[in-house]
Amino acid sequence: MKIICVARNYVDHAKELSNPLPEKPLFFMKHENCIVRSNKPFYYPDFSSDIHHEVELVLKISKLGRNIGQKFAHRYYDEIGLGIDFTARDLQKEAREKGAPWEISKSFDHSAPVSEFVPVSEFDDISRISFRLDINGSAVQRGNTELMIFPVDVQIAYVSKFVTLKTGDLIFTGTPAGVGPVKVGDHLEAWLEERKLLLQYGQEYLEYRKKAGFMVPVLRRQGH
Ligand code: ZN
Repeated sequence: MKIICVARNYVDHAKELSNPLPEKPLFFMKHENCIVRSNKPFYYPDFSSDIHHEVELVLKISKLGRNIGQKFAHRYYDEIGLGIDFTARDLQKEAREKGAPWEISKSFDHSAPVSEFVPVSEFDDISRISFRLDINGSAVQRGNTELMIFPVDVQIAYVSKFVTLKTGDLIFTGTPAGVGPVKVGDHLEAWLEERKLLLQYGQEYLEYRKKAGFMVPVLRRQGH
């Protein structure tokens, strides 16, 4: 499987990093060994002193496709979740200043923790999904897919012109504003569409809270 990450897909995030707004989707790849599942910890790597969090909505591709038409794109993913696109901002800045590829700042081992995935059918409207990231209990990033520059169907159509999508591939769909550094000892918790709905069952109102959240403790590997 592969991980495709869409960059600069929220206006407020592009502005916070002083990046121009893209005219067409921009994407890069992470490797399979970037994936961290099941709420396992993230070990702060030796090669960076400025690892940033970027929380993102993640699509899981459900069938093979290339050159997918935008209006058919919704048939190619059936689950969504959350991921963190950990970025070595210091290495990225250095590479960008030299005009060099910034692969190592994005595609290092364990740089892509992902949550459990939830069927898309549980959501009314993929273009209005909110999510957020808390660090040590305080919200640091809040996003809503309605603020995307390129909605998910546009991303799938664009990416699949160049790269065949296969079952199980993941698309990280871009991060909202509020990116910033993490430090050893932090606890990151991501929430998908945290909302309380009042559902009526008979005479009773029940509180319903959907959490596809996941925890990522940031640790230092022993012996470092
Ligand atoms: Zn990102």
